[in-house]
Amino acid sequence: MAHAILIVDDDTAIKESVEEYLTLLSYRVQSASSAEEALEKLKTFPADVVLTDIMMQGMDGLELTRRIKQTHDIDVMVMTGYSADYSYEEAVKTGASDFIFKPFRFEELDLRIKRVLREAEFKKERTRLLKELEQLAITDALTKLFNSRHFFRQIKTEIERHERYNHALSLMMLDIDHFKNYNDTWGHLEGDKVLMAIGRIINSCMRSMDTAYRYGGEEFAVLLPETRIKKACVVGNRIKDLISSASFEPQTGVRRSVTISIGASELKDAEDFTSFIRRTDQALYKSKEDGRNRLTFC
Ligand code: GH3
Ligand code: MG
Ligand code: MG
Repeated sequence: MAHAILIVDDDTAIKESVEEYLTLLSYRVQSASSAEEALEKLKTFPADVVLTDIMMQGMDGLELTRRIKQTHDIDVMVMTGYSADYSYEEAVKTGASDFIFKPFRFEELDLRIKRVLREAEFKKERTRLLKELEQLAITDALTKLFNSRHFFRQIKTEIERHERYNHALSLMMLDIDHFKNYNDTWGHLEGDKVLMAIGRIINSCMRSMDTAYRYGGEEFAVLLPETRIKKACVVGNRIKDLISSASFEPQTGVRRSVTISIGASELKDAEDFTSFIRRTDQALYKSKEDGRNRLTFC
């Protein structure tokens, strides 16, 4: 869709000629005769660029720029006469993206608008890439769960939250049973498919506050904020049962299933993350000792 421009000028002749020219260039254009009217128009007209005169009756163009930048993600270009008392620095300080002296050639105005729009696109793309990178840095590529780096950050954050608000916090550690056998028999690629499926199953059991991590090769962790151990066990048993009832086909016509052992615990007052993880790991070890495919809590 064509870019949208809002022109703000109390000089009707300038306003109308700029409006006419930009409309000719296929921009979607609206105009206002004052800053107040412009702010009103922006409520219903999602402009990409506001092109405003500086010297106007009532609120001036710099104040308008300031207000727009406080509440919108819109580029503002200011126009002013050579003789006016406003400086480029002043305009840029208030957040304006460009500054153009009147009288200007329409071609120059168009070029400047295009440059501002291009920079806005770059900025958007940069922000998107940065978000994607941040997400990649905390995601396990195989299972799409969070990775262990994020786990250590989050467990500390959740423990701090527990200390501040005294909310319960539970932790589960999960480890696939005899997974080495599965890999040795069916190959690493088939093992990877199991890891991916288990990631999906764990994710499907998460409530809105819970977070799941691939903690190690075939080990997973789940953090359950505001959750007492009893409720954590319900979630854990559900995961365990869903995993044991999932069927894999590592070779055509061959059906196999896997099981998982779980350790669960609830954070004690004044406990640090190393002790919390150690206790949960001990519960997991107990599940292994007692025959696997079970959940132990402490
Ligand atoms: P236990 O029930 O005691 O946990 O037995 P286990 O065989 O699962 O435990 P062990 O620690 O001896 O072996 C873990 C295996 O997990 C070794 C390796 O083959 C497998 N594994 C670890 N990471 C990956 C991975 O990224 N992909 C695949 N396919 N397998 C992995
Ligand atoms: Mg293991
Ligand atoms: Mg294992």
